[in-house]
Amino acid sequence: MKKKLKKIVVTGGKGGTGKSTFAVLLANKYSREKKRVILCDCDVECPNDYLLISKKLKKPNKKIYAIFPKLDKKKCRKCGLCAKHCENNAIFQVPGKYPVFIKELCSGCGVCWNVCPYSAIKQKKEEIGKIYLNKVKKDFWLITGVTKPGLQETGPAVSQVKKFTLNFAEKKKVDVIIFDSAAGTHCPVIAAISDCDLAEIVTEPTPMGAHDLKIILDLLKKLKVKSKIVINQSNLGDKSLISKIAQKNHIKIEREIPYSKEILNYYSKGQLLDIDVSRISL
Ligand code: SF4
Ligand code: SF4
Repeated sequence: MKKKLKKIVVTGGKGGTGKSTFAVLLANKYSREKKRVILCDCDVECPNDYLLISKKLKKPNKKIYAIFPKLDKKKCRKCGLCAKHCENNAIFQVPGKYPVFIKELCSGCGVCWNVCPYSAIKQKKEEIGKIYLNKVKKDFWLITGVTKPGLQETGPAVSQVKKFTLNFAEKKKVDVIIFDSAAGTHCPVIAAISDCDLAEIVTEPTPMGAHDLKIILDLLKKLKVKSKIVINQSNLGDKSLISKIAQKNHIKIEREIPYSKEILNYYSKGQLLDIDVSRISL
C-alpha cells in the first residue's frame, strides 16, 4: 500500500515569532525519527531556512516564471479600458496616449489582456525567481524558493515551489514535508497553507502575538486546515492571552518553547538546530 505523505505548514500571523526556527527544529525532529523529510521554505521574498542550517544557495534547480502584459502598439487604439479595469493601478495612461505598464505593481492577473477589445495586450513570460535544492543530511532535504525583489504578487511563485517539492517528494518517497510560510495572511501565505494536513501556528505571548493569532486562525478555518498552536518564548510574556484564544477556538496548545540559550547558540553559529524539539517543550 502506498504510504501517505504528511504535509505540515508552519505559519503565524506575526513575523519574528521564531516560525522558521521552529520549522527547522520540526524537520530535524522527523529526521531524527528516521523519517524521510523535506523542509520547504515558502517565504520566497525573504527565505532564511538555508541560513539557519548553514547551507548555500548556489546553482538553481529550476526557474520560476510569471506572465506579464506587453503592449502591441500597432493594435492599441488608446481606448483606456485596460487602465480602467486594472485593480492594482499598474497601468498609467494619459488620455490619448498609449498606456504604460508599471511592472512593480502588476500581479499578472490577466484582466487587462482579457478586457482589451483590440487584442493589443500580449502575454510575456518572465523569470521571477529560482528554486534551490540542498541535501541537509541522509534523507533530509531543503527546498528554497527565492523571488526577485519588488514583485507585487508572489502567491503563484509559492505554488510553483510547492509543485516542485511535491514532485520531488514523490520521487524520493518522502514521509513528511514541512512548509515554512511567510508571516501574515496574504496570497503567498494562503498558497503555502492550501492543501496541507496540519498547520502549526507559531506565536508569542504578547498582545500583538494574540492579535495576529486570531487573524491567522480565521484564515485557517476558512481554508479548512486543522491547526495547533506553538507558543515560543513562552516564559517571557503573558501566556493567558494565547490560552484564552486557544480555548475559544477549541485548539490545542501543542507546544511551549521557553526562551533557550541553547537555541540561540546554534542560531548565532549558523548551525543546524540539532535539538530534539520534544526536549525543549515544557
Ligand atoms: S484596452 Fe487595449 S486598445 Fe485600449 S488602451 Fe488598453 S491596450 Fe490599448
Ligand atoms: S495583469 Fe492585472 S495587474 Fe497587471 S497590468 Fe494587467 S490588469 Fe493590471
